[in-house]
Amino acid sequence: MTTNATTAAGRSAARRSLEALALGDAFGERWFPLFRAPRQAVNEIRARRTPPEPRWHWTDDTALALALTRSLDEHGHVDQDHLALCYALAFDADQARGYGHGMHLLLPRLLEAPADWRTLAPGLFDGGSLGNGAAMRVAPLGARFHEDLDHVAAQAVLSAEVTHAHPDGIAGAVAVAVAAALSARGELVLDAVADRTPEGPVRDGVRHAARTPFTTEPWKAADLLGNGQRIRADDTVPFALWTATRHRDDLEAALWATAEGLGDVDTTCAITGGVVGAATGTAGAPEDWLRRREPLG
Ligand SMILES: [Mg+2]
Repeated sequence: MTTNATTAAGRSAARRSLEALALGDAFGERWFPLFRAPRQAVNEIRARRTPPEPRWHWTDDTALALALTRSLDEHGHVDQDHLALCYALAFDADQARGYGHGMHLLLPRLLEAPADWRTLAPGLFDGGSLGNGAAMRVAPLGARFHEDLDHVAAQAVLSAEVTHAHPDGIAGAVAVAVAAALSARGELVLDAVADRTPEGPVRDGVRHAARTPFTTEPWKAADLLGNGQRIRADDTVPFALWTATRHRDDLEAALWATAEGLGDVDTTCAITGGVVGAATGTAGAPEDWLRRREPLG
């Protein structure tokens, strides 16, 4: 049981973060090779040319962030068995949202027996997933509980464990949740994120990001920090948090900078969007982006 009730300020910050996470996810997805060749994507991103497609669909990042939000709305804190069921229901509702291989294996089984996450999640990939899936959905949780950073970190761990049992997968979720909380507080600094991230390659990566000057070109920073191409938390979270901190008051600028890194670009943009949006919401985003983004339903 937790005594940390969700406050009105927490609820507002969570909603801002969720809306911006979905915008980042849908915007980032446009740069995948499925939609435009990498060279074309690079040129269009550098020219800041808005993708012309009339509808930008969001992907698994948003589907699972919505599932986490619904579970938190219902329980006020992470109830792991209920959350496992909510993740499984989201997957079952639309399996074509770009889920990773591990989630295709795990989530159908959790639909049958949600409490089995305790044995099934650690059994994935011989030691649990260290992917970026727990990080990509968690920013609104950090925003929701931003008034208590210890609670943010503890709840982020619980939200991760039902699918990502590997310490690196969990650390990715903690780093992003703490970053979103600090953003909602107007205190986003990379070293402060690293200070609250469990020891390991994710924390090392966030420290590396903290030492990477904001004068660095984003594509170069992605080379140094990783762009999510390996789909691991430690190669996704540091760059996404670097661009978020570099542009912590400007969601549009943050998402363009993140897109410059390409790689797992829907997820890096979802993370950056969720973190920056905890402070800014989507109010400053271009009207035609907001019109194109698939509604949250
Ligand atoms: Mg995705």
